[in-house]
Parts: sequence; C-alpha cells; structure tokens
Amino acid sequence: MKNSVSSVRDAVLWAASFLNKKGINNGRLEAELLMARAMGKNRAAVLACFPDEVPQAVFHKFRQLVEKRGRHFPLQYLTGIQDFMSLPFYVEEGVLVPREDTEVLVETILQLGRSFENILEVGTGSGIIAVSLAKYISGVKITATDISGKALEVARKNAEALGVQERIRFIQADVFRWTPAEKYDLIVSNPPYISREEMRGLQKEVLFEPVEALDGGERGLDFYFRLAELAKEYLVPSGILAVEIGYRQALEVRGIFERAGLTGIEVIQDYAGRDRVVLCKKGKECNCEE
Ligand code: SAM
Ligand code: GLN
Repeated sequence: MKNSVSSVRDAVLWAASFLNKKGINNGRLEAELLMARAMGKNRAAVLACFPDEVPQAVFHKFRQLVEKRGRHFPLQYLTGIQDFMSLPFYVEEGVLVPREDTEVLVETILQLGRSFENILEVGTGSGIIAVSLAKYISGVKITATDISGKALEVARKNAEALGVQERIRFIQADVFRWTPAEKYDLIVSNPPYISREEMRGLQKEVLFEPVEALDGGERGLDFYFRLAELAKEYLVPSGILAVEIGYRQALEVRGIFERAGLTGIEVIQDYAGRDRVVLCKKGKECNCEE
C-alpha cells in the first residue's frame, strides 16, 4: 500500500494497478473517479491537475477509498453517485445500486405513450424509477413504497435534488401487509427476485448490498404473486402492471400473471437480448374485483 504523497498522476497510476490486481476491470477509470471523490472535484478537473502534487489530506482519503474498493466495496457507495435515465442519483450503503437493466423497465413504460396520472411503485430503493417517471411524465402523481427506512431517506433526497418531491408520496410499508387506499393506472416494480440458490453465488460487490433488496424467496418469485394480487385489486380497468424480472423468470412470471387473470402479457428483452421486463394489463374482461 502506497504511503508517500506524490503527483496526482502517480497516485492514480498506483491505484489503477492496485485495483487491477484486485480483479477490478476498470481500475484506471475507477481510480480517477475515486481521486475526484477525494478531491471533491469532477473527473475532468482531476485530469487537468495530473502534474500537481496531491495534498496530504487528500492522499490519505484517496488511499482509504482505494483500499475499500480493493475489497470490492461497490464503487457507487464510495463516489455516492450513479446515473440512471441520464439523471444523477445519490446512493449510499444500505440501498441497492441502480442497475442499467432497470432503464429497460422505465423506457418500456415511457414508450407506451400513455398519459399515466396515478402510479404506484413497490420497492423504490434509491427512488430511480419513481423519480425518473416523475421527471419524464409531466403532471403524474406517484406513490412509492419501500420496507426500508434508509431506502426512503435516500429516495426522498433524490426526489428533492431532482425537483419532483411535490409529486411523489413515499410510504414505508411491507407490501405483503400493506393495502393501498386508491387505484392506479400503473403499478411498477423492480422487486427482489434472486432465488435462494443464486443468493449463494453472488458477485463480491453484491454481497455489500442489502439482502432485502435482492432476496425474492425460495425461487425468487414471491413478489410477483403479491404484485399480481395488487394489480387485480388496485389497477383501474386497462391499467398496466410492469415489472423487472430475472432473465430466466419470464415463463414463470407470465404464468403467475395469467393465472391471476391479467391479460395482454408481453415480455421485453434488455440490450443483451435477455428477458428483462414483463408487462400486462388488467383487461376489461377480468372479473378480478369480485
Ligand atoms: N427500485 C429500486 C431500483 O430499481 O434500483 C430498488 C429495487 S430493489 C431490487 C427492491 C426494493 O424492494 C428494495 O429497496 C427493498 O428494500 C424493497 N423491499 C424488499 N422487501 C420489501 C417488502 N416486503 N415491501 C416493500 N418493499 C420491499
Ligand atoms: N439485478 C440485480 C442483480 O443481479 C438484482 C436486482 C433484483 O433482485 N431486483 O444483482
């Protein structure tokens, strides 16, 4: 572990090689981002001061960040930021790091071209889905729930930073016990969907993330049953249920939604061509409310 203070460039090069040795693929880029964090500047500003000497206090902070990253602590928890749908979201330990896959869910909803007015999100985490929908669908009102107080704290912060806090109501609740007081035209969720078997083989970074954000029960499907029930009872006629799924769950989730009487089921793929989103409708023919 490097001890002496040197130029910004040398410190970054040392960190890049240290991180690469620890099995981190983008060591150089990550080293620059961590230096930016230690200096309280952006990455471009770090590159611009490569020849300068690193102040002692900055170097100390940088080294701590690099050491933590070397133990595969998620980069985003160290930098405090992850972009989603071209918006900057704040994240910290205790909430799921937003995934690129989830953009497919939000894009699918936006591409429906429907003017949603009242949306329910289950399991909002850092708030990426609720906040980006509030940003991109003008006038929409959103109820966002999560069981985790920490998640809601972060989600509220993001809603405020992005100026949509007036249109999102946050509720701390366990979706298996909570019942809504109104009806929605869209229910959306990226629920925990990792099966018990997969939970045992997660990437090192994921082990630092909250288990309640990932664990979807024995087969990873628990939340889809509950979401189907909510859709039956709390969607307006022709309302939409849109969920993210694990890439091997399309058949099972389709089955759960079909058996619940939901119609128009569609499976949408992510950029890697893997099943990622399931959409369905509360059809007019559904006698779900009886
Ligand atoms: N929507 C965020 C995203 O896409 O990044 C977070 C999704 S994360 C996979 C699932 C979220 O569901 C977590 O924030 C977790 O705290 C929440 N959650 C887990 N169990 C829950 C429950 N019983 N009721 C409500 N929310 C729950
Ligand atoms: N996509 C996440 C992962 O692979 C899982 C998120 C979820 O359970 N919804 O780690």
